[in-house]
Amino acid sequence: MALVVQKFGGTAAATPDQTHTIARRVIDSYNQGNDVVVVISARAGETNRLVAMAEEMCPGQGGRDYDLLISAGEQVSVGLLALCIRSMGYKARTYLGWQVPIITNSEYSSASIIRVDPDKMLADLKTGAIVIVAGFQGIDQAGNITTLGRGGGDTSAVAIADVLAADQCELYSDVEGVFTADPAICSDAHKIIKVSYDEMLELVGQGTRGVQIRALEYAKKHNVKIHIRSGFSTATGTLVTREEELMEGGVVTGIVYDKNQAKIAVIGLPDKPGVAAKILTALADADISVDMIVQNASQDGLADVTFSVSKDDLAKADEITRSIANEVQAKAVIADSKICKLSIVGLGMRNHAGVAARMFTALAYNNINIQMISTSEIKVAVAIEEKYTELAVRLLHETFGL
Ligand code: ASP
Ligand code: MG
Repeated sequence: MALVVQKFGGTAAATPDQTHTIARRVIDSYNQGNDVVVVISARAGETNRLVAMAEEMCPGQGGRDYDLLISAGEQVSVGLLALCIRSMGYKARTYLGWQVPIITNSEYSSASIIRVDPDKMLADLKTGAIVIVAGFQGIDQAGNITTLGRGGGDTSAVAIADVLAADQCELYSDVEGVFTADPAICSDAHKIIKVSYDEMLELVGQGTRGVQIRALEYAKKHNVKIHIRSGFSTATGTLVTREEELMEGGVVTGIVYDKNQAKIAVIGLPDKPGVAAKILTALADADISVDMIVQNASQDGLADVTFSVSKDDLAKADEITRSIANEVQAKAVIADSKICKLSIVGLGMRNHAGVAARMFTALAYNNINIQMISTSEIKVAVAIEEKYTELAVRLLHETFGL
């Protein structure tokens, strides 16, 4: 007998049929003798619909009333699931965020959890009820409804698992787990059984789906075991856990790519302090995050700076960069939306030399040019031409014996 938190994302609860599937799953787990707390998200597309509605009626709004609106999808999901579970003859007890309560700070739309009260949930479990909590929602100390950032149902689940000292926090969505590479393009890709928090943070940061990054940070800090799995199959997924609990693995754990990347090169900038800062500050002020950055200084007092942004930000970033480039009299600005960021991630890199060398050699051998590079202790990421993505992924999967 265990206490499990089962979180169902919107993609696992998109249709009435899927809600029935979830109900059965939860009941199965309950019948196996577990205490079950369910955290559920809005149906797939529902939060987007609410956001779009607000944007259409009164663009650019945020804050208290906005959060009240966009948190509504979760209330519907909780209600439907509870009705479904009751109709199958089981006891369900529902909670919105404020009813738990899940106390957050007042950063609307990206609130952080301060405290979760376990008492009511624990009392309900004692009576044999299945507890169902709305994800994504909280309440600040002044009593206002807040939301935890897009995908924030994962954070709700992890925080609840933490405060209840649950044995596991299962995150159900439409992905089967975390794979060594995208199975759609690499037929040799296989599911990773266990991965560390740090590796998972890098993988998600580089484009892997399955869990919100803030939830992972929370889980790492509070040592909550996460099980990423599919709502459509009973197969075991991927366990995200402490490094100490992993078996000695290979050097590289996974390969991920992100085609939603673009680069901007600023050519012939004055090579003096403050010029790159000016560009990056202007981008930061517009809320555009820059990922990889490369600078080459040349002999004649001029430098080229190249950086990557998300494709969604390209038009705005290009415009901002051009105006600064003008101001500092750079020679040219070149934007390119046909790039892909390819990353290899693995704890083993910390104590193996030459990992980047192997990666670069494999790419070079196949005539794939590297345009930008960024690294961390456990990651090497490169920007390459987008059309080589599939080839490069397969190549590296083989190179690192995955
Ligand atoms: N419904 C919210 C969203 O779509 C939260 C979640 O799905 O976890 O972002
Ligand atoms: Mg969602």
